[in-house]
Amino acid sequence: MAHSTATLRLTVGDLRIVHPITVPSGPVEAAEVVPTLQGLVNAVVGAAAAGKTVSCRKGCGACCRQLVPVSRSEGERLLRIVEAMPEERREALQVRFAAAEAVIEAAGLGQREGRNDRELSAAYFALGVPCPFLEDESCSIHLERPLICREYLVTSPAELCAGPAQEGVTPLPVPKVSLAARGLQDDADDWFPLALLMAWRRTRPRKTARHPGPEWMQRFLRQLGRK
Ligand code: SF4
Repeated sequence: MAHSTATLRLTVGDLRIVHPITVPSGPVEAAEVVPTLQGLVNAVVGAAAAGKTVSCRKGCGACCRQLVPVSRSEGERLLRIVEAMPEERREALQVRFAAAEAVIEAAGLGQREGRNDRELSAAYFALGVPCPFLEDESCSIHLERPLICREYLVTSPAELCAGPAQEGVTPLPVPKVSLAARGLQDDADDWFPLALLMAWRRTRPRKTARHPGPEWMQRFLRQLGRK
């Protein structure tokens, strides 16, 4: 398939980003432009982290027990990643997803039920449910991790991240470009917790729009302008 390239020049927060992008020229599902969004978020995070000392390290997975909101488009991409894994790895993941889902549903956190974002996040973190993609306290899908995982870095001592109230944790101020992915397909604030990926797979919308890659990027940038 032919590809189209362009150079994005964006101002996000205090950052000026100049970033080359490449997307399929023809009609594709939104999941196929997710790698381009990953590259853009990496560029924004890199600019935000320039000159700062980030304390996040491989093997420190405390933040991977937080609620990770994932957009529909990223969910569709992650399902493809899982489906392409060897059977043994896929089965091990299914076991971890089932365990996480059982704990989250038993705690009544599968739905919002009147909670605001802060209450939901605090109750979720208190459960201590590790992300099913976490292996040996490291992300097993590092190159494919969700956009919001890329945006969460801290400059405070790593040991503070495991505290129940996360007191003293200082996240790096990173513009949340990931939010724009949530409205990519239907303009709705469409997300689900990553740990419920397999539950979402059972109920997700089956009809998926196809648009040329440049059109998906224009939609994304329009959403970004609204955030
Ligand atoms: S996807 Fe990776 S980085 Fe994100 S919460 Fe899961 S294990 Fe952590």
